[in-house]
Amino acid sequence: MNKCVYCKQIINDERAVSVCDGCGHRVWGEKMFNAIKQNMDNAKQKGDLNQGSVCADLKGNVKSCEEKGALRLI
Ligand SMILES: [Zn+2]
Repeated sequence: MNKCVYCKQIINDERAVSVCDGCGHRVWGEKMFNAIKQNMDNAKQKGDLNQGSVCADLKGNVKSCEEKGALRLI
């Protein structure tokens, strides 16, 4: 079962990100969050999603969680 990393709400679909729509839209905006979800789903399908923490900045670029301005996706 997937849980949102921000509000701990249970996520019922099979998305690659562990962020619910409410939090995703609040942080990135609806359009950007949909793009991030799609990118992450593609990465998961290709099997090149890192286990553990994955983050993105406010522009939707997936990056290391150690970098400044990174917000957690997983
Ligand atoms: Zn949430």
